[in-house]
Formats: sequence, structure tokens, C-alpha cells
Amino acid sequence: MKRHLKHPIFTIISEEADKLGQECYVIGGFVRDLFLTRESKDIDVVTLGSGIQLAQQVAKRLGPRTPVSVFKNFGTAMIKTNDLEVEFVGARKESYQPDSRKPVVEDGTLEDDQKRRDFTINALAICLNQKHYGELVDPFNGIDDLNNRIIRTPLEPGITFSDDPLRMLRAIRFATQLNFIIEEKTLQAIVENKERISIISKERIVEELNKIILSDKPSKGFRLLDKTGLLILIFPELHQLKGVEEVNGKGHKDNFLHTLEVLDRIVPHTNNLWLRWSALLHDIAKPRTKRFVPGIGWTFHAHNYVGEKMIPSLFRRMKLPMNEKMKYIQKMVSLHMRPIVLSEEEVTDSAVRRLLFEAGDDIDDLMTLCEADITSKNAEKVKRYLKNFQLVREKLKDLEERDHIRNFQPPVSGEEIMEIFGLSPCRQVGEIKNAIKEAILEGEIRNEYAEARQYMLKKATEMGLKPVNN
Ligand code: ATP
Repeated sequence: MKRHLKHPIFTIISEEADKLGQECYVIGGFVRDLFLTRESKDIDVVTLGSGIQLAQQVAKRLGPRTPVSVFKNFGTAMIKTNDLEVEFVGARKESYQPDSRKPVVEDGTLEDDQKRRDFTINALAICLNQKHYGELVDPFNGIDDLNNRIIRTPLEPGITFSDDPLRMLRAIRFATQLNFIIEEKTLQAIVENKERISIISKERIVEELNKIILSDKPSKGFRLLDKTGLLILIFPELHQLKGVEEVNGKGHKDNFLHTLEVLDRIVPHTNNLWLRWSALLHDIAKPRTKRFVPGIGWTFHAHNYVGEKMIPSLFRRMKLPMNEKMKYIQKMVSLHMRPIVLSEEEVTDSAVRRLLFEAGDDIDDLMTLCEADITSKNAEKVKRYLKNFQLVREKLKDLEERDHIRNFQPPVSGEEIMEIFGLSPCRQVGEIKNAIKEAILEGEIRNEYAEARQYMLKKATEMGLKPVNN
């Protein structure tokens, strides 16, 4: 173990803790990740005594300019170096009131401190004092759970989750990130305490959801959220995607399972959280738009546009950012059918130009989403789609080089139109500009000034306008 604590900061902490005569341990996520050989830059140090004093001594050793952030109310102090963040805290004992996840805190032993941790794998401690340097303190068999890949609470799980319901989401998040199994009683306790999630802030919930979405197999987390009954409480729109309805023996696909498949399929292609959110939300309006049309079957008419419209209220409620990230997701949801429709028909230049115009710089992300969306079990169909997508991609590249439609700027400005025809801002200016844009998208003229100006003169004449200088 000693050789794992190779960062020089551990020697400094060790020496300073010994000078103060305080027991001192590295604890929690850092120790867990050490055993899992995962990289971790946050170090938590717990000491029997003042964490603040120890931090101040360590900072002095690191150099006169090393800042220490002290949080007196919490009895903690933090040192940030170039490559690490170290938090110091005195060992504590916690007790909870039913209506809050803020505990009453008092000084405690190392074991008290380990008991207040959420999971056995997060309660591991390694001694830093010289005499026992590198010795593991593991009262809840966290190492066994690490080896067997199990998430389990150190104390009775019902109490652990009722005290701080955020831990239910943390359990599911760790199970997803680490590909661990939640031990039976622990899982059962989540089911029993699920309603307690109501005392957790939306921001904390989203933080955990984001970590699930950014993991290697997010579907695992969403299945667990569903299985425990948390999903319907924190994300009812996603829960509503579940299930298959049948009319006259005709069913549709289960849109929850489909959505999770799309989300997993997009993982190898992007670490962009918002593109992954787009995958999660791309079919969110299917339950609202579902109809059975005799002779045709199940339809989800305009689910992409309805989905786009649902997103602001969903983001507001979940306290997700209502900024350009949301607009990006709206755009992805609204356009997610286009490349597929395009590839089902003949791939015409004008359709590709229109797609490029609407998607702009997000076109590659949109294509990534659409490819992930092909989850058909019919190998022939998949092959055909992918081949057509390839064609769409080639055309996109070709047209982009030729016409520069992405980030389209009108080649003739409204000011110029007004000046030539002596107009003040009016509907006709907009109509002319729009006609020029349409002509470019339809391929009638090229996206360049001379052709656009020529076209504008023709269009204006048709509208009965005359240049003022002639
Ligand atoms: P990550 O950095 O991926 O979130 P972590 O385990 O380092 O993982 P932190 O939130 O930094 O997570 O927490 C550090 C340690 O503090 C945990 O390992 C755990 O021991 C303890 N801890 C954090 N949150 C809780 C909680 N809600 N209840 C009990 N213990 C917690």
C-alpha cells in the first residue's frame, strides 16, 4: 500500500500530523480509486483533532504562497496544488433529523467517521502516521466488496438512505460508473425509501443523473432508477416512454428500451454531455403523440416538434441549464428524423442543403445521433440505412465545400435591398431575402454575391419594384 501513496504530499501530511500528535488517515473515494486503479485528484484526509490546523501546517511546508481555504463552520480546510485538491477534516460523528439531510455533527473516532460514509467501498481509510503508515483500516469489509464489485451500506441501509436520500442516487450512480451490483438489502432499502428523494434538491439530482449519462453504460443506471421506483419520481417523462400497447395484435416498440439503447449506442462516439442528453430526449414526446391509425398502424406524428417544445418546461423543473445547451438539445430533438427521412428517399442536393442550413455547425452531432437511433433488428434495413447515411455524409461534405451553406449568411443584405429600391424596413425586404435564400437552397443560384444580386433584381422586378437610381 505504501508504494501507492507515492505523491510527496502524503509524506508531508504524515510528518505534520506526527508533529501535532494527531492520528491521520486518507479516506473515502481516493482510497477506493487507488484499489480500482482509477485516477483521482481529490484527496480527503481525516484526522483526530483539528483538520484546519493540520491543513495550515501542511500548507506552510508546501511554500509560503500556498493558499488554504478554511470553512470554519464545517471544520474543514482545503489546499489546492497544481495537480491535487486535498480536503482536511476532523473525524466526526453525525446524527440526523427526519426532515433534513443536514446532520448534527460532533467530534468522533475514526470508526464514527467511517460509519457516516455512504458505502463500504467509500469507507476505506489508510493511516498516514509514520508508525502505521500505509496500513488499511477497513471495519466494514470494503475491500471484499470492491473485489466482488458490490455496493453496500456500512450500517443498516434503511437508516443510511433515510438519513440522506441522496445516497440512493449515489448508489445507482456508483453501480453504473463502476459496473458494480447493488447488494440485495441495500437495493430493497432504496425501494422502501424512494419517496424520501423529495427532500433532495433538483441540482443534486441532476448532478447524479449527469454522472450516470457520462458513464460507459448509462442504460444500467436508468434501469436501476426504474427498478427501484425512483425514475417515476424524478423523471416522469422518461418513465412514460415505458411499455408496449397493442391494438388488433399490432404493437409498437418499447420507447424506454429503445431510448436506452440509443443512449448506450452514442457513448463510444461522444463525451459531450448534451449530445448524450439529446439521445435521452430524442423520443420524449412519443407518448403524447401516439395514435393508432387503422390501416397504417402506430404513428407518432410530429413527435420531434412536440418534443422540442416539451424541453424548456422539463429543463426548468429539473433545474437543467436554460441556455444555449438547452437550445442545442431542442435543435437535435427537432431535427432527429431528418437524415433518416432523407436517406429513405432519393438523397437530393436541395434536401441536403436544407439540412445543412438548419443544423449549421451541429450537423456532425446530428448525424451521430441519427446513426445511434438506428436500432432495428432487421440487418438488411440497418445496412441500407447506414449506406444511405454514408451517401448523405458525402453529399454534405461535397455541398459544404461548394456552397458554404453551414452558418449561412445572406449574400445580399437587407440594407442593400432597401438602398437599391428606396425602401424602408418592410415586408417586401423580408420576402426578397427569403426568396434569395430559397433559390440558394434549391440550387437555382450559387451562394455568392453576383448571382444573388442578379436574382434579387429579377425578383424585385416581378414584385413591381424599381431601382431608385434608374
Ligand atoms: P466522485 O468524486 O466520483 O463523486 P467520491 O466518492 O470521491 O466520488 P465525493 O462526493 O467527493 O465522492 O465524496 C468523497 C467521500 O465522502 C465519499 O467517498 C464518501 O466516503 C463520502 N461521502 C460523500 N457524499 C456522501 C454522502 N451523501 N453520504 C455519506 N458519505 C458521503
